[in-house]
Amino acid sequence: MHKILILGPQGSGKGTQANILAEKLGIPALSMGQLLREEKASGSEMGKEIQSYLDVGELVPDVLTTAVFKKRLENDDVKNGYIIDSFPRFMEQYESSQEFFQPTAVIALTVPEEESITRMMKRAEKEQRIDDNEEAMKKRLRWSVEKTQPVIDAYQAAGICHSIDGVGTVEEIAQRIAEVLSLA
Ligand code: AMP
Repeated sequence: MHKILILGPQGSGKGTQANILAEKLGIPALSMGQLLREEKASGSEMGKEIQSYLDVGELVPDVLTTAVFKKRLENDDVKNGYIIDSFPRFMEQYESSQEFFQPTAVIALTVPEEESITRMMKRAEKEQRIDDNEEAMKKRLRWSVEKTQPVIDAYQAAGICHSIDGVGTVEEIAQRIAEVLSLA
C-alpha cells in the first residue's frame, strides 16, 4: 500500500505532481492546504479557528493541522493508500504524526530559490494578489525551507526519502518520480 508524502517549497509543483501520482496509482491525493480550507468552509469550531490564520496568510498551528489530517485519515477512501501534499511539514507535526502516519515513501522536490520565486510571482499575478511582493515571498520561502529540512532529514535517515530535481516540464518531473518509486 502506498502512503506517499510530497514535500517541496511553494511553487515547486508538488500539488500537480501529487495529482498525477494519485491518478497513476488510483488512490486519492490529499493536500494539507485544501483540507484546512475545507475545514474552514465547514464552519465547525475548529474551522473558525483555522479561518483566523488562513485569512491573514499565516500558518495554521500544528495542533490544529495535525487534528485535521488525523480526522481525514478516518475516511474510507484512504484505506488502500493515498498521497499527501505538505503534511508533516514541520518537526512538531512530524513528531505528533508518528503514532498515526508512517509514509511508505517521501518525495522531496527541490527547486532553486529564484525559480520558486518566479513561479510564485506568476501565480500571484494570476490570482491578482498584489500584496505579494518579492522580498516578502523570499523571506517566507526561506523560513519555510529551513523549517521543513529537519523533516526531510528524518525521513532520509529512515531511508524512505527521495530528493527529486523539480526543474523541468511537468511530464519530466512526473517521470523522475515514477522512476524512484519503481512505477515507470
Ligand atoms: P497550499 O494550498 O499548500 O498553498 O497551503 C495553503 C495554506 O495552508 C498555507 O499557506 C498554510 O497557511 C496552510 N498549510 C498548508 N500546509 C500546512 C502545514 N503542514 N502546516 C501548517 N499550515 C499549513
